[in-house]
Amino acid sequence: MIQDCILCNPAPENLIYRDDKVVVSHFPSAVKAGHVIVGIASHIRLLEDAPMEEFLAAGRALKTICETMKGILGCERFYILSVGDRDHHFHFHVIPKYESDPVFGPHAFSPAGWAGSLNTDPPVPADPNLNQKLHDFLSSTD
Ligand SMILES: [Zn+2]
Repeated sequence: MIQDCILCNPAPENLIYRDDKVVVSHFPSAVKAGHVIVGIASHIRLLEDAPMEEFLAAGRALKTICETMKGILGCERFYILSVGDRDHHFHFHVIPKYESDPVFGPHAFSPAGWAGSLNTDPPVPADPNLNQKLHDFLSSTD
């Protein structure tokens, strides 16, 4: 547990739910009402390092939260993203999207938006066999 981590130690007024696998809290710097974060219980930065049972619990919580908040808030849907640049404890942001809100996708994926600030030159060449390797791995797991 990290004392200054917003998921390990959320402010009491922000904490919505916690058990031994998942934590749900209002995001302290919410962009709008209903902006919550859903994290694994362990202070682990990367999804690929997270215990599977905690990730699955976070996924269940994420679905339940969206179903419940949609009924309460009356929003159209949710933007769900994981950033991890500042808070190094794996979590998803859940942000209500109302019909009247502008759409985020064209901003995020256009050269004028977030995509435009990404370095598109990878440090190593893309693996031409990536699709097949992923397919084979996914086919071999339960
Ligand atoms: Zn933490």
